Amino acid sequence: MSKFFSKKFRELVPYTPGEQPTDGRYIKLNTNESPFPPSPTVEKAVTEEIKKLSLYSDPRNSALRAALAKVYGVCLEQVTVSNGSDEMLNLAFMAFADKQRPLAFPDITYGFYPVFAKLNGIPYEEIPLKEDFSIDPDDYTGIGKTIVIANPNAPTGLSLSLEEIEKIAADANRGGNVLIVDEAYVDFGAQSAVKLVDSYDNLLVIGTFSKSRSMAGARLGFAIGNRALIEDLDTLRYSTNPYNVNRMTAAAGTAALQENEYYMENCRKIVRNREKTTRELRLLGFEVLPSSANFIFVRHHAVGGEKLYAELKKRGILVRHFQKKRIEAYNRITVGTAEQMDQLVQTLRALLEELQI
Ligand code: PMP
Repeated sequence: MSKFFSKKFRELVPYTPGEQPTDGRYIKLNTNESPFPPSPTVEKAVTEEIKKLSLYSDPRNSALRAALAKVYGVCLEQVTVSNGSDEMLNLAFMAFADKQRPLAFPDITYGFYPVFAKLNGIPYEEIPLKEDFSIDPDDYTGIGKTIVIANPNAPTGLSLSLEEIEKIAADANRGGNVLIVDEAYVDFGAQSAVKLVDSYDNLLVIGTFSKSRSMAGARLGFAIGNRALIEDLDTLRYSTNPYNVNRMTAAAGTAALQENEYYMENCRKIVRNREKTTRELRLLGFEVLPSSANFIFVRHHAVGGEKLYAELKKRGILVRHFQKKRIEAYNRITVGTAEQMDQLVQTLRALLEELQI
């Protein structure tokens, strides 16, 4: 740390992203990317756009937002876009929470929430998940805070029903607070709260192209909500980086939305692979939480979480282990192709045999 670093950031502990090895040696099941490539029209659209790179991108992102509005059945003014959904989460925290209106989110959830809260000097309450790692909607009613919920939650993969989300949204609405629903994994089996945005002016849904739309490396996120909420986010976007979505990414995203069915079919493949892997791992003695996402959260009574992570890494498979006490026995494993999952199951079977379990 330099002596010049602002006092207000000296205690900040940054978010630790999952490992991103560049040598291609691993079966990479650690950061919930799609194992499928973007659709062919995406490549074409990006190649075309490269010719215009000398010009700034469209700060209004009109074409991309129009495509999003069409797919999600909302108006143009109800959509804004960002450099990955991480950026949108940061903007939403800045916009809708502060010392007078602290944040509330589960104790086990996306690790960036506490980092963004601290970055912006926002106090927060971590509400414990129930024993079975599910979220109790009643814990989020009558609390008078800006609420953030990932649905499905990460790293558990468990989801809330639309009715449960609505209950929280309605209560927060009566109390004059915003509910942010982070739907990074919604396309793999949960119900989207986008249907509710016309009924609740305090509901903000945040999505990403990183998971179901095979574009993690392009960095594209979006928010859908009441137009006044979107206007607030845009005020902050124009006050920080109006060109936050670059030309190639905007073109890629717009093209991807024209071929939504390709991506939704990929999601169905992931769901099939997830269900098969879940069955097979349970037969091997693993406890696997029922996931609605493109990852599973697993533990084995006879092998520690960190050991399992290390043994898999030695064998060329990368998964995600979190040091946090409550979940240290677990690993989060991204669901990949059928072949990758077969490899995972075979490797785990051999490992348990070796360890004589
Ligand atoms: N929300 C959740 C719950 C996530 O797991 C992630 C991915 N790490 C994100 C948001 C951010 O994704 P991105 O910035 O790639 O859109």
